[in-house]
Amino acid sequence: MKPLGMTILGATGSIGVSTLDVIERNPDRYRVIALTANRDVDGLLRQCIDHQPHYAVMADTDSAEQLQHRLRESAPDIEVLAGEEGLRHVASLDEVDCVMAAIVGAAGLMPALEAARSGKRILLANKEALVMSGALFMQQVQEGGAVLLPVDSEHNAIFQCMPASFVPGSGHPDGVSNILLTASGGPFRTTPVEKLAGITPEQACAHPNWDMGRKISVDSATMMNKGLEVIEACWLFSTDATHVQVVIHPQSVIHSMVQYLDGSVLAQLGNPDMRTPIAHCMAWPERIDAGVQALDIVGIGRLDFEAPDLERFPCLRLAQEAWQSGGTASAVLNAANEIAVDAFLNHQLAFTAIPGVIETTLAHVGVHDASTLEVILDADHQAREYAGELISGASSFGELA
Ligand code: NAD
Ligand code: MG
Repeated sequence: MKPLGMTILGATGSIGVSTLDVIERNPDRYRVIALTANRDVDGLLRQCIDHQPHYAVMADTDSAEQLQHRLRESAPDIEVLAGEEGLRHVASLDEVDCVMAAIVGAAGLMPALEAARSGKRILLANKEALVMSGALFMQQVQEGGAVLLPVDSEHNAIFQCMPASFVPGSGHPDGVSNILLTASGGPFRTTPVEKLAGITPEQACAHPNWDMGRKISVDSATMMNKGLEVIEACWLFSTDATHVQVVIHPQSVIHSMVQYLDGSVLAQLGNPDMRTPIAHCMAWPERIDAGVQALDIVGIGRLDFEAPDLERFPCLRLAQEAWQSGGTASAVLNAANEIAVDAFLNHQLAFTAIPGVIETTLAHVGVHDASTLEVILDADHQAREYAGELISGASSFGELA
């Protein structure tokens, strides 16, 4: 069998590194064609030497120059590209069969759309792309003849529990009544509410079950991650937020469930290790070794479930409301969240002020029909600007809390 050509967008991140690990375990099946990163020159250089891709792309132009300089002696055949254009180029190359979309945030949208247009197999980790422009994205997947497979562990679990004939974008799956989207509840599920305002970025990034990038770690701590995932599920599985029930399951062993009309509930279980959903998408419909330890179900002993606390986690409610509002509301939600999380990580905003920034931005920036990319990018831009002003204008953290 000819190896599949792979582009890994966001190769130096948590998902990118896990993807390369799965490739290393299955060297006959995959060939790395392109690796990309933002500014991590050292990280991408090391990966280039190990995996010898044809292309290396850095979103930041200065970083691309540095990488080119440093590759000159060790691997002069690797072509170095820069910026969004470079990212789009490697997402659409003829020699690429499969694109791992693992850039964090809105920056991942354009290359992921390009992969859709070019009819690739897209392994989608970048949930923000679907949240921003779900209708357009799904349309591009259809028109480009692409295959969209969910890497996000919950959506991958749901996909595994769907009827065998189902692929994302093929309409509402027959016989399915509800999706049960599980959530760990993050590191602050039981922290006294009065302590939440003093949470530091380091505490928020220390997730009890998963080892992830900083932005998604904060999203998990606020439960905005679950809110974004509700919207992601609606697009992938052609359903509505009222049919996506969020369930707190602190052990993170069940990665989500699908409820059928006849009363059956199917679940996918496994250790919390992203190499499982990554390998599932890479090999689908086959199975390969992902290097993940077998689940010790007896050692785990018990599985707990509870309803989420929407007062403690207002971000989840905001995301559900944004889905109901439709149009550009979820692009605004996503953009305001990115700005607020960034400010929190830079010690400019209190943890508890994050939802306030998002809610105020949603109330300020009008909702439009998300029919074109231009309208979506404009909403994204307006929301970033407004949320930024809101944060720099707040005289104290408490004001927005
Ligand atoms: P990360 O921060 O570890 O890595 C992000 C990657 O994107 C890096 O390679 C970085 O260089 C690149 N990048 C950042 N900004 C960029 C920009 N402006 N332009 C181009 N490249 C840029 O993030 P991660 O945890 O690997 O998450 C990646 C995506 O996968 C996110 O959308 C996240 O929500 C999603 N996801 C992650 C996990 C997880 O376990 N880490 C699980 C589910 C979904
Ligand atoms: Mg997830």
